[in-house]
Amino acid sequence: MNAQQVEDLTSFMEAVVRRNPGEPEFHQAVHEVAMDIIPYLADKPLYRDMMVLERMTEPDRIISFRVVWQDDHGGVQVNRGYRVQQNNAIGPYKGGLRFHPTVTQSVLKFLAFEQVFKNSLTGLPLGGGKGGSDFDPKGKSDLEVMRFCQAFMTELSKHVGPDTDVPAGDTGVGAREVGYLFGQYKRLVNRFEGVLTGKALEFGGSRIRAEATGYGVVYMMQDMLAHHHESIDGRTCVVSGSGNVATYCAEKLIQLGGKVVTLSDSSGYIHDPEGLTLEKLQWVMELKNKRRGRIEEYAREYGVEYHAGEHPWGVPCDLAFPCATQNEIDGAEARTLIENGCRAVAEGANMPTTPDAIKVLRASPGLLHAPSKAANAGGVAVSGLEMSQNSLRMQWSREEVDKHLREIIASIHAQCVEFGTASDGHVDYFKGANIAGFNKVASAMLAYGV
Ligand code: GLU
Repeated sequence: MNAQQVEDLTSFMEAVVRRNPGEPEFHQAVHEVAMDIIPYLADKPLYRDMMVLERMTEPDRIISFRVVWQDDHGGVQVNRGYRVQQNNAIGPYKGGLRFHPTVTQSVLKFLAFEQVFKNSLTGLPLGGGKGGSDFDPKGKSDLEVMRFCQAFMTELSKHVGPDTDVPAGDTGVGAREVGYLFGQYKRLVNRFEGVLTGKALEFGGSRIRAEATGYGVVYMMQDMLAHHHESIDGRTCVVSGSGNVATYCAEKLIQLGGKVVTLSDSSGYIHDPEGLTLEKLQWVMELKNKRRGRIEEYAREYGVEYHAGEHPWGVPCDLAFPCATQNEIDGAEARTLIENGCRAVAEGANMPTTPDAIKVLRASPGLLHAPSKAANAGGVAVSGLEMSQNSLRMQWSREEVDKHLREIIASIHAQCVEFGTASDGHVDYFKGANIAGFNKVASAMLAYGV
C-alpha cells in the first residue's frame, strides 16, 4: 500500500467506526476486506465515485425483535432476535442463524458482511445475511428449544421467504432447530416452500448439506496443496471444535489419509497422538449430536490427554483447521504454529484468526492460509444447491451434490489464484478471495444505479 492508500484506508475505517460504534467484530471484518479492496480500487475511479465499498458496509436493513417464550417451569423468558439483511445484489439474502449467548448485533453484522463475499465466491445467485439470538440452547430441554424456535419464527416469518431471505443453521442451530423453525413457518404461512436450508431429507433437505462445510474446508486444503504438488496424505492435522464443521472436516481428512490428532470444545481439547479413526469419530458425533456431551469424555473413553481451558494450537502439526469460533487463534498462537512447522491453515469457523494472527501468518514465507470466506463456503454452497433442488421439486444423489460441491470449491480456489497471486508466484488467498468476492457484487450494484 502506498501512502495515499494508507490514508484512504484510515479515513474509511474512521467513518466505519463512527457509524457503527461499539461493534469491534464488525470493524475487524470490514478492515480485513478494506485492506485489500482499497488498493484494488486505486485505478477504478467509477467504483470509488459510486461509493460501492461504503455501500457494501452498510446493511440493507437490520431487523431486531423480542422473542418471548415459556420455560419448563412456566417462567417467562425474554431474548432478542435479529436478522441482518446485508446485501441482495446478486440473489436473495442467504446465511445462517446463530443461537449463542455471545450473539450481539456486532457479531451478526460481521458474519453477514463476510457472508456477502463468501456467497459471491460460490458462483451461485446468493445475497448475504445472518441472524440469530442470544438464546443459549445449552442445558435447555427439547421442548424449551422447540418453544423458543417457534417464538423466534413467529416474528422472523414476516421478513423471510424463498425469494427474499433464506436462513439456515450456524452455531447452536442444527437439524433439530431447523425442523422446529420450518414447521412453524409452514404453520404460519400455509405454504410448503424452501424458506430454510439445512432441512432434513424428508422435507426438502439436500444430501451432503450436513457434511458440506467440513468437506469443503478439506477440499480447499487439497486444492491449495495440489497447487504446490503436495497432498493431505500422511500429514498431521490439528482440528479445533467438535461440532458439525469440525467433525466432518476430520472425517474427510481421515478418508484422505490425514492424521487428525485433536478436537476441542469451549472447555478444552483432546490430544490423540495415534490419530482419530472413523470409528472414534463416529463416537464423537454420537456424543455431540445425541447426548450433547463435552469432548472431555473422549479422553476418558480412549485414554488420551485432555487439556482443560486450552486451545490445541501448541500441538505440532502440518495442517491446521480452526473450526470452532471467531478469533480462536491469536498472534502468539499463530507464531507457535509456524515455529512448529505448520505448512497450511484452512479456516472452517468464520474469522477464527485475529488481525494479529493474520499478520503473523501472512508474513510467514510460503505458508498457505485460506480465509473462512473461501474455505468454509461449502456449507452455503450446498444450501444454494438445496434451494435449486427445492425449486426443481427434486432431490439429487450424494454423488451429484458432492460433485457440484467439489467443483464449486475448485472454482473458489481458482478465483483466489487469479486475484491473489503475487509476482513471485505466492498466492495471497485473503486478497484473492476479497477481490473475487467483491467484483461480482460490486458490478451488480453498479448496474442497478443508485
Ligand atoms: N452458517 C453457514 C455459513 O456460515 C451456512 C449458511 C447457509 O447455509 O446459509 O456459511
